[in-house]
Amino acid sequence: MNAPARSLPTHAPQTVFAIADGELQIAGQPLSRLAARVGRTPFYAYDRGAIARRVAELRAALPPAIELHYAMKANPMPALVGHLARLVDGIDVASAGELQVALDAGADPQHVSFAGPGKRDTELRQAVAAGILVNVESFREIAPLAEAAAALGVPARVAVRVNPDFELKSSGMKMGGGPKPFGVDAEQVPGLLAEISRAGLAFEGFHLFAGSQNLKAEAIVEAQRKSFELALRLAAHAPAPVRTLNLGGGFGIPYFPGEQALDLTPIAAGLADIVAEAAQALPEARIVLELGRYLVGEAGVYVCRITDIKVSRGHTYLVTDGGLHHHLSASGNFGQVIRKNYPVAIGNRMDAPPAGEPASVVGPLCTPLDVIADRMPLPAAQIGDLIVVFQSGAYGASASPQAFLGHPQVVEILA
Ligand SMILES: *Cc1c(COP(=O)(O)O)cnc(C)c1O
Repeated sequence: MNAPARSLPTHAPQTVFAIADGELQIAGQPLSRLAARVGRTPFYAYDRGAIARRVAELRAALPPAIELHYAMKANPMPALVGHLARLVDGIDVASAGELQVALDAGADPQHVSFAGPGKRDTELRQAVAAGILVNVESFREIAPLAEAAAALGVPARVAVRVNPDFELKSSGMKMGGGPKPFGVDAEQVPGLLAEISRAGLAFEGFHLFAGSQNLKAEAIVEAQRKSFELALRLAAHAPAPVRTLNLGGGFGIPYFPGEQALDLTPIAAGLADIVAEAAQALPEARIVLELGRYLVGEAGVYVCRITDIKVSRGHTYLVTDGGLHHHLSASGNFGQVIRKNYPVAIGNRMDAPPAGEPASVVGPLCTPLDVIADRMPLPAAQIGDLIVVFQSGAYGASASPQAFLGHPQVVEILA
């Protein structure tokens, strides 16, 4: 079923999907047939083979001792989490709702961890009952964890999430360094460790997460090195040996013209050094990376159908049945400072040359924010054509305001 791999039109980056007879192929099927199988548009399709290949490539590139966790915030679709639970070494959740999905998906509680500011007491109790690792990020979490452990007669497994004393350079979203709501400031960690010890919680390690969507390998290498050295300093204050050291992730994927895929070679070299030093300094520690977007982002597409074509004062608008209510990120309203187009194509006209004039792809919402592609070179289109937004496997459906304006919910499939 494998169609010959072909490069996409110049406005779209290389993607993992092939083209055959002018049509995009998802999981070895022509897009139009997949759309018929789904039965309606818009939909997200995630390619399970592409996800498996991504994990395998990453494992091949990194030192074998590095454990990979999936941060399911990036895409919590239950079938996809189930697929990944069998491919990676653990799942990182950020709410009790995500925890439920992870456990349903068959994730081993021993290798599930829970991070996030403002965990509710009920969520902490659920985590203790499930036997997962809680990344403590506030002094306040200690008492409810100790109470849950006493009431249930099971240990409260904890790691400390550290807000480091450095920032991740060139990150799309910084989540560590300076004042942050995430984690406990490095300088307060010795005090926190003392309280964890007094409360009788089962200390297992440290968690550091510096930021997200980074395409600069040197910045990631530097953040991992500094995280490791900080963890080594803090380990001197720990009440028990470090068994888990989660160095975060933040591996980015290219979305926009000019962006290049992350170079894993220097990252692998830096991690090899860390693994070797950890074998001496933290001999019981498993070194973990937690990745969301990098594992699933490129394996997903968002597909919607052109329902109208309007020309306004010479500019063509391709109006679709999908938009920002399903895909806030592609509309540019999820953390982008300057709006840029995601890679977009007409999935049933992949061989057609761009029309003379660029066109804009918009959704059905009555707001000027509902833009999928702004003035993009696209082939001449017809009503019924399928618009495809690439790089849509992460921060799509679950990160979008689906109730806004009362349109139908989006369908998600794992193909
Ligand atoms: C969001 C988040 C991740 C995942 O980030 P990606 O950029 O999707 O890889 C990992 N860890 C923590 C703590 C997060 O908050």
